[in-house]
Amino acid sequence: MDRLILVIEDNEQNRYMVTFLLERHGYTVVSAADGPRGVEVARRLTPDVILLDIQLPGMDGYAVARALRALDAHRSTPIIAVTSHAMVGDRERSFAAGCTGYIEKPINPDTFVADVERIAGANRSGSEQ
Ligand code: MN
Repeated sequence: MDRLILVIEDNEQNRYMVTFLLERHGYTVVSAADGPRGVEVARRLTPDVILLDIQLPGMDGYAVARALRALDAHRSTPIIAVTSHAMVGDRERSFAAGCTGYIEKPINPDTFVADVERIAGANRSGSEQ
């Protein structure tokens, strides 16, 4: 998998934990606390994978996914929705909005990075590792 990951997440503790876990596995992480800033960072830095919290204030994760897919650079970038287990229908709506896969909250630190790699890797042909 490639190395730059964008995390769009409004909750500071979740942002911190996800960043910590990914950096510990050698990834470079950039983050944004809301949708508009996330789209702006995605446009500017063209990350290799995008982790997208669905429950964001203002512009929600579905709208963010659609905005990302409208960018030429991110038509096929893996976008992984991070959804609340309690929110029935989130998965289907995430896929409909263009997400590649989803991970449920609360995040399990023991499996999180492997899940990200599996979902992002499955999106690529001739996966790099
Ligand atoms: Mn949130």
